[in-house]
Amino acid sequence: MQKRPKKWLAGLKRIAKKHGTPVFIIDHKKIRENHKEFTESLPRVQAYYAVKANSNPEIVKTLYKTGASFDVASFPEFMIVHDNIKNLPQKKRQDFIWDKIIYANTIKRIETLQALDQYKPLVTYDNIEELKKIKAHCPHAGLVLRIRVPNTGSMVELSSKFGAHPGEAVDLIAEAFNAGLVVEGLSFHVGSQCNNFENYMQALQLSASILKEAWLRGYKIKIVDIGGGFPVKYHSRVKPFKKLAGMLNTEIERLFPKDMEILAEPGRFMVANAAVLVTKIIGKAVRDGKTCYYLDDGVYHTFSGIVFDHCQYHLKAFEDGEKKVSAVFGPTCDAFDTISVAEELPDLKIGDLLYAENIGAYSTASSTYFNGFPPAKIIHINK
Ligand SMILES: *Cc1c(COP(=O)(O)O)cnc(C)c1O
Repeated sequence: MQKRPKKWLAGLKRIAKKHGTPVFIIDHKKIRENHKEFTESLPRVQAYYAVKANSNPEIVKTLYKTGASFDVASFPEFMIVHDNIKNLPQKKRQDFIWDKIIYANTIKRIETLQALDQYKPLVTYDNIEELKKIKAHCPHAGLVLRIRVPNTGSMVELSSKFGAHPGEAVDLIAEAFNAGLVVEGLSFHVGSQCNNFENYMQALQLSASILKEAWLRGYKIKIVDIGGGFPVKYHSRVKPFKKLAGMLNTEIERLFPKDMEILAEPGRFMVANAAVLVTKIIGKAVRDGKTCYYLDDGVYHTFSGIVFDHCQYHLKAFEDGEKKVSAVFGPTCDAFDTISVAEELPDLKIGDLLYAENIGAYSTASSTYFNGFPPAKIIHINK
């Protein structure tokens, strides 16, 4: 891990002093840089930011300004994005909704479909029951069929819950057209934090062969949505994004015609490294010879990614000192609220601050009010 400049550390401390802890600091400059890196590395791909990674409206606004589009998975997420685009001229509105939003949850409540229909949205599906629901409650939608692809070696696997079997894909496309609906594209997700780039290669090849068959049967499908999964450099074993981008560009060029629209749904990639959490030590004990620190933030709150995202965050002290292996717990009364049983930390005292980096994705997004402890305060910098 690189050592942070003193000035940067002092800045964190200043924010913690002013706003109290726990405080979650979102750096919008980083978000803009991430979007730039993504679009420059994948020139044929339009990025639809997966809002669930961090749905803070200020992040949506920043990414909207940089030219990003959005992947939403619920009606409230749809409205967070929609409220940014409502001033657009009505004439161009339809193109614009599709250019800017994909509703990428293949399972939708009937009430959601009813509420979405007036926007003529682009929505995903992966089974016949959902198709019937869309036909009945959101007949003005454009459809994207999500297929099931290998998720081998991804930190979070999704293929057990979502995606039509590739062998059923063309039939599901035909069913949609037979019902008077229109299928605009195919999508997939290789699993989140995907460090096995072969998943993308296989998924692209599967998509290409499904498309070929669909075209032969007269279905003009023009979108391929390559989903999320783009890995973040949490540690040195993560392969470089540049390498993945090179492989994707080559394969997209080889497999798809020039006029094919290529979408992606990066979530983590846009926000993970754009936030830092500062938390305070509120208790200290020695148990079985090991020093235990109790923090004012934990697994039910900003560290929820430890559970839901299978992600380990490292805590760092602001002062140097001889380090020893310590345990770190959250503030609630549940023993499950354990952030780490083995963090290398110097000897610290109650009231000292710690910080965790790369905590922007799947963290505050799934924070709760368990035990009456509210989520961390959110502060924006470089907006
Ligand atoms: C969660 C999700 C994403 C974002 O995934 P990342 O791995 O964070 O990039 C994209 N698309 C869909 C359908 C998702 O469910």
